[in-house]
Amino acid sequence: MFCNQCEQTQNGTGCTDVGVCGKDEDMQSLQEILLYGVKGMAAYAHHARRLGKTDENVNAFIEEALFSTVTNVNFDLESLLELVLECGRQNIRVMQMLDEGHTERFGTPEPTTVYEGTKAGPGILVTGHDMLDLSDLLEQTAGTGINVYTHGEMLPAHSYPGLKKHPHLAGHYGGPWQNQLWEFPMFSGPILGTTNCVLIPPDTYADRLFTNRVTAVPGGTRLKDSDFSAVIAKAKACPPLPENKVRESTIGFHHSVILGVAGQVVDAVKSGAIKRFYLIGGCDGAESGRNYYTQLAESSPSESIILTLGCGKYRIRNHDYGTVAGLPRLLDMGQCNDAYGAVQVALALSKAFDCGVNDLPLDIVLSWFEQKAVAVLLSLLALNVKGIRVGPVAPAFVSPNVFKILQDRFDLKIIEAAPPAELVQLGA
Ligand code: SF4
Repeated sequence: MFCNQCEQTQNGTGCTDVGVCGKDEDMQSLQEILLYGVKGMAAYAHHARRLGKTDENVNAFIEEALFSTVTNVNFDLESLLELVLECGRQNIRVMQMLDEGHTERFGTPEPTTVYEGTKAGPGILVTGHDMLDLSDLLEQTAGTGINVYTHGEMLPAHSYPGLKKHPHLAGHYGGPWQNQLWEFPMFSGPILGTTNCVLIPPDTYADRLFTNRVTAVPGGTRLKDSDFSAVIAKAKACPPLPENKVRESTIGFHHSVILGVAGQVVDAVKSGAIKRFYLIGGCDGAESGRNYYTQLAESSPSESIILTLGCGKYRIRNHDYGTVAGLPRLLDMGQCNDAYGAVQVALALSKAFDCGVNDLPLDIVLSWFEQKAVAVLLSLLALNVKGIRVGPVAPAFVSPNVFKILQDRFDLKIIEAAPPAELVQLGA
């Protein structure tokens, strides 16, 4: 039996005095925050490595961070907190590597109109985050008459020149990860799950669900490499998809695109045309309380710009926000790892206005569900960004004391029952 304080065995060869070692719930909480942050960062680092990007300092930090959680190594709150923030700093570097890996391999994203729905004929749906898998599949399906569709976090793929050049990258189908259970049964072709946030399939589509490498689910078929011939054969055997256009949308506001119009944005802020910026996004989920993000976006003033990323965008993208100062008010920056780009935009604005990021008229409101969101939040805290709202609730692994520390140092808040006036009214 393991002690729930420090994982030593109780009544055996290890600890017999539960809690005497000093590892209280706050140490446990900080260690868990660190572990979840490292897990999220490792996912991004894995994608970056597949694109040829690694950093020995990041690898060394991952070792150090994991070592610090070994039994009886670190019971010191301040040094654990510093490791937690260092995880955020290292994650900025990892997201930068992933951004560089994507742009060097597939070109710089550009604003792009995306067909949403299906086109008549056989098709394969790709979900997850690994654009290299999507690229390999597009190469292998070229000339076969099979269309390829994105789902969930794959939507930003349509904005990369090296991916959208394929005419059979036919469109986007569906929404965030939790919709898989009702969206996938209605897609008649095979589905490829490339990374996390793939759900265990019910019988309705288990025989059509493929995963690859580290991603695997009971009932699905796991491929060990990037040979997608089994997926292609399945697409040929499945009933064709119907012609069904749902709508068109515009994506592709990579940080380079926004920074390319930085002068226009700065002038608009100086003239008062733009008065506020929001970053609304992160990891979506199925729990109640997440309509807060929809309410916030839809109540935001018309003199504001909303940056979004991650699958949290699906909470706010079904609304026409119009334009401000010649720009769309809703700017989709990409996947959750494109939080790196949001940081670059915030830093550029603070430089343009000669102020700190915390002095900008910028509200950051994040949704979280899993480890990548933890890594992204730690990155923002490591940059000393204050006043971030997260929700819908505080994760169970954050102890009340640790949350109080984060509140005191970073003014971290949990989202309210509804967006308060101060968040949606100018001058409130
Ligand atoms: S944004 Fe988060 S919850 Fe959504 S698919 Fe990506 S990792 Fe999963």
